Parts: sequence; C-alpha cells; structure tokens
Amino acid sequence: MHFHVITLFPEAFDSYLKESIIGRAIKEKKIKVLFANPRMFVTGKKYKRVWPDGNVSRIVDDRPFGGGPGMVLRAEPILKAVESVAKKIARRTKAGAKAKVKVINFSPSGAKFTTEYAKTAAKKYTDIIMLSGRYEGIDARVAKILKAEDVSIGDYVLTGGELPAMILIDCMARQIPGVLGKFESLEEERVSSSEFYTRPEILEWKGKKHAVPPVLLSGNHKEIEEWKNKGREASEK
Ligand code: SAH
Repeated sequence: MHFHVITLFPEAFDSYLKESIIGRAIKEKKIKVLFANPRMFVTGKKYKRVWPDGNVSRIVDDRPFGGGPGMVLRAEPILKAVESVAKKIARRTKAGAKAKVKVINFSPSGAKFTTEYAKTAAKKYTDIIMLSGRYEGIDARVAKILKAEDVSIGDYVLTGGELPAMILIDCMARQIPGVLGKFESLEEERVSSSEFYTRPEILEWKGKKHAVPPVLLSGNHKEIEEWKNKGREASEK
C-alpha cells in the first residue's frame, strides 16, 4: 500500500511514522508513505518571488472570493503536486505493477472515517492520495477535478489535514496483512474486551489496593470469555 500525502508540512509526520508498529511496517516495506509539498509546485511571478538576497518565497494561498476571514489554498500547486504523484504511480504501472488509486480530500464535513472504511479501502486500493488542507481549506475545484472523496475523521475542526492523514495511515496500515504481529493480528477478530490488566495482580497506589478482576486470574477460559463479552456489551451500549 502506498500512501501519498499532499501537505505543506511533511516534517510533521516524521516522529510518528518512525515509531512502533507503523515504523516497523515502513521499514519492512509493508507500507510506503510518500509526500508531495504544494509549495514546491508554485509558479508564476505573482506567487513565486525571488528576493535580491537569493531567497525565494512561494505563496500557496490567497484570499477567498466572496470575502471572509482566513486564506484558501490555491488549486494549481495542489493539482501539480497530485500530478507528480500520478507520474510516480504511472512509472510503477509501466514496470508491470497494478495500481488502483483513490483520492481523499480531508474535510470536517466529509464522510466519516471508520475502521470499516479502512478495511474496505485497504482491500480495494494500492494507492491512497490524501489532500491535507490548511487555513480555510483547499479551493473546492481541486476535489471536483480529481473526483476526490471528502472524508472527515470526526465532528471537530482541526487546524490542518496532517493529523487526519496520520490517523488514516495508522488505521489502514493495521488492515494490511503482516503489519500487525501474529498475536496482534487476531485482535479485531478475537473476543476483545475494553478493559485490560497486566502485572502486578494487586496495585498499591497511595495507600489503597487495586486488584485485578479475579476471573482473569482463574484460568477458566470459558468464564474469561463470558466476562469479556459482558464488558464489551456494556461498552457498546
Ligand atoms: N473552513 C473549514 C475548516 C478548515 S480546517 C470548514 O469550516 O469546513 C483546515 C483543514 O483541516 C481542512 O482543509 C482539512 O484538511 C482539515 N480538517 C480539519 N478538521 C478535520 C476533520 N474533522 N476531519 C478531516 N479533516 C479535517
């Protein structure tokens, strides 16, 4: 699975993607996370300024038509960034790989992202292109031109689409065979509970003793399963 993130802030991903299960999945090439920064695709005198000292400023946003506060990410640098991704994918398909591409535009008013969504998408696609917006968002023509699906990770508004991209990568990666270890891979199919305990059996904290539910120490698998089932039913209510 190839995840392509269109973002102004690729460095924001560095530390998270290095750690733990996701870090291992990338090292073992079970998943790939690639970035394209719209800022690198800014052209034209109006938006790309070369200063006498040699510095270059590349402006990716502009004021919204119709007024209002905040800035809007311009369509062109984003479309060009996506084009560069499409070229990469085309190179792979030329070399014989099959590609099934999905474009996702993050938006707080999009379709809700769920584990179910992650499962289906992980089976269906080889490449997910994600548009991470900033400020007021991306010029709406981009999503239309790219036939992107608007996806929301929850009913709250964030300052950018970088966390949504990380959440999608994290959740989808779990669905890719070999990403979770043997033990973990069974997790979602297993009777899982919403409460977990580990050593010590009695936890002493500020003069009070906190015990683990005795059934978990009983070794009686049938009773343990029943206990977990009950816990799950309660948490689903
Ligand atoms: N003006 C927009 C909010 C923009 S938030 C509005 O009112 O709808 C800036 C960017 O953050 C968005 O373009 C999107 O990429 C991302 N974002 C914010 N909240 C999000 C959420 N709940 N789900 C997915 N993306 C979100």
